[in-house]
This record gives sequence, C-alpha cells and structure tokens, in this order.
Amino acid sequence: MAVWIRGGRAFAGDPPRAVVGDLWVGDDGLLGVPPTEPPAGTELLDAEGCLVLPGLVIAHHHLYSALARGMPGPAAPPRSFVEILEKVWWRLDRALDRELVELSGRVGALEALSCGVTGIVDHHASPSFVDGSLDALAVGIEAAGARAVLCYEATNRHGHEAFLAGLAESERFARAHARPVADDSARRAPARFAAMVGGHAPFTLDDAELAALAAAGRTHGVAVHLHAAEAAHDQKDAEARGARNVTERLRRAGVLEGRAVLAHGVHLGPQEVSALAALGVWVTHQPRSNMNNRVGYIAATDAYGARLALGTDGINGDLWDEAHAAFFRLREARDAGAERVWSWLAGSWRLASEAFGLEPARGFGTLAHGAPGDVVVLDYDGATEVHAGNLPWHLAFGMSARHVRDVVACGRVAVRERRPVGHDVAALRREGAEGARRLWSRMAALG
Ligand SMILES: [Zn+2]
Repeated sequence: MAVWIRGGRAFAGDPPRAVVGDLWVGDDGLLGVPPTEPPAGTELLDAEGCLVLPGLVIAHHHLYSALARGMPGPAAPPRSFVEILEKVWWRLDRALDRELVELSGRVGALEALSCGVTGIVDHHASPSFVDGSLDALAVGIEAAGARAVLCYEATNRHGHEAFLAGLAESERFARAHARPVADDSARRAPARFAAMVGGHAPFTLDDAELAALAAAGRTHGVAVHLHAAEAAHDQKDAEARGARNVTERLRRAGVLEGRAVLAHGVHLGPQEVSALAALGVWVTHQPRSNMNNRVGYIAATDAYGARLALGTDGINGDLWDEAHAAFFRLREARDAGAERVWSWLAGSWRLASEAFGLEPARGFGTLAHGAPGDVVVLDYDGATEVHAGNLPWHLAFGMSARHVRDVVACGRVAVRERRPVGHDVAALRREGAEGARRLWSRMAALG
C-alpha cells in the first residue's frame, strides 16, 4: 500500500538538504513522485507543521539485550571489561532460547521504530540456541516492521565446535538472504533483511578462526562484523598471540579486505587508525556503551572520514540519545561542530546502503526518488528556524525521540501518532515483562 506524506518540511540527511514537495512511498516501498490522483487505499500522513527526515539507522546493536533493562546485577561487581562480559552479557546470551530471541527482536525493534529508527545492524549471540537463531530474531523484527542486517557473533569461548556453529548460522542466513545475482538495485526496493558474517572479538577468536570469518565474508560478498579494541584487553591479547596489535591480526587473517565493520575501536593506535582508514574499513562509535563500561574514548574519529557510523551497542534503540551523548562527549574532548555528529548518522545510512547493495545516490538517508521510503515524521517544536545548514545543531540541542510521531519502514506505516501499528501496547508490555522474568530466572539458574 502506498503512503503519501503530505505537507511538512522534508530534509534529506546525506547530505542535509531541503526536499521540495510531498513525499510519496510507492507500493514498491521506494520514494517517488506523488500521483495527481492517489489511488484508493493510499495511506495518508498529514505532516503539516512537522519535520520529515529519513528513518535513522543503528550501525551496531544487540537486540538480544532488549529484555535486560532493570535486571538484577551480578553478586560481585565486575572489576574489568572482561568481567562485565563474563558476569553479565555472557550469562544473558546463554540464557536465551528461541522464544526469548524472537521476543527480544520484536521488543527491541519496536523500541527502535518508536524512536524513528527504521534500520538496525545487529550483532547477535545466543549460545544455547544457535542454529536458526537469526531466523527467530528476524521473525521478531519483521513483526515490528523494521529493516535489519543480521549476523551471528561467532566465538570460541565455548570451544571451536561452537565457533563453527556460529559461523554456520551467519552463512545460512547470508545464503537465505542473498541478493539476486542480476540485481537491478537502481529500481528494486531493498529486501527487509541483509546479512553480514559476525565474530565476537579478536580476543575470543584464534587466527584460523578469524581467517574462516574472512573467507566466509568473501564467499557471500558481505562484510565481517566484529568488536575490535573495545578495551585494552584486545590489544594485550593480540600481543600475546605474537602480533603487534589487533589490526595486524585482522589484516593477516584477511578480515580487512572485505570492508569489515569494526565496533568501538577505542584502543587502536595512530598507525592502526591510518591503516584502517586507508583500507576503507567501517568503524562504529557507541559512546554511551564506552562510558558505561569505562573502556575509554575513541579520540581518532576524524581519521575515518565518511566511514564512521553511530551505533547503540545494545544500550537501547534511541539513536537520538546516542547522538546527544556523542556530541557532548566530543565537545568535552575538543572543539568540534555538530556537523561531525550528523556525519556519523550519515555514516550509518551509508553503511546500511552498502549492506543492502544500494547505489549511494539512492541510498538510505538520501530521500531521493528511487531510494527506500524509510521515513520519520517529527512533531518538532523547535522555536527557531530549521534549515539544511543548521539541522545538525537542532540535532545536538533539540531533536529527540519524543518528537517522533509517525514512522514508515519497508513501505508500511509502522508507527502512527506515536503508537506502533498492529500491536497492542499493553499486551506487549505484559509479554515483555513475562519474558524478562523468565530470562532473568534462567540467568540465575546458570550460577
Ligand atoms: Zn557490541
């Protein structure tokens, strides 16, 4: 069903520019010219007085953490980043079963949509339920109405066999969601799902396993997505394995040839940063998670140019909040404009466009004719003028998830008047709370 977004002031995000006229999302889910006589059944969103922007994309997320908020903390407080993983997240992911993975996907994707996020690049782990886990996650995401890039974060922390199972899951999903060979991406709407090959982090993977991830990425023509140098531990581990640093390990294994996506990169040295930037590797920035885990600040963001993207790392689905944290943390570190943070939002759009095989001129964030019609309507009450030039400053000091009124994703209205379409919010809350109780008791049973 087509969607007509009538009135309002629309701005493309990459690059920021005003878009003249109404937006029209055709039956194919692509943006086009509104017909003079909209056909019967067209959904109308009256955006008069509103701002209209492209739907945001989270470049690195963990939907499996959607039921974690408010859970009891570990008996003894973690003393290091690795202990945070061991005592919290590696217990949570082991406690996930099929039903909880699907519920996490649905709850997490609905939360993101309600914040105006239409695309999620996810990094999934559920070691007790690996085979088919990405399908279960996808069922939840599709029910919510979002678009996503999925992978399983393979690791050997439960042994090499478990690593192979994780890799097989990413490969199975990549095969199932491969783009047609003769894909005419100029005209075809992107699918709801795309794939990557996932790895947890270099410190839980040996050299042969890293090489296996790289080979799988090449086979399926997708990026390898893993955490790298999030904390100092990853660098110490690389040295212990005889490499100069994490980047050398990844380069030797062939991971960096396929435009890898590295999450965090907080502890990369200046030479590593230059090498990664020269190779066009994606780096994702998650300042809230970095602060929460006390791992440090990624100082070299400028070096990556257009290939730095913004993620939330499982904190929640609110990319506006992440952008605010990114802005203030950046300003604390040095004098830089809000345009910098806007460019990271644009990085997320570009990363997703690449994953879905879209040409940049018709990618996410462009609002160009033929681009995906993933759009957010903001009831933005900014008292001052908004134009393409000061949009990043409205992002820094004004716009937030509370302004999100309507969201169109994958050719469908997913949020209307701040309510998820087709979902009973009260029932969803009950289901989420029950699922969380079950998850937390399964975690407690793991000891
Ligand atoms: Zn992460």
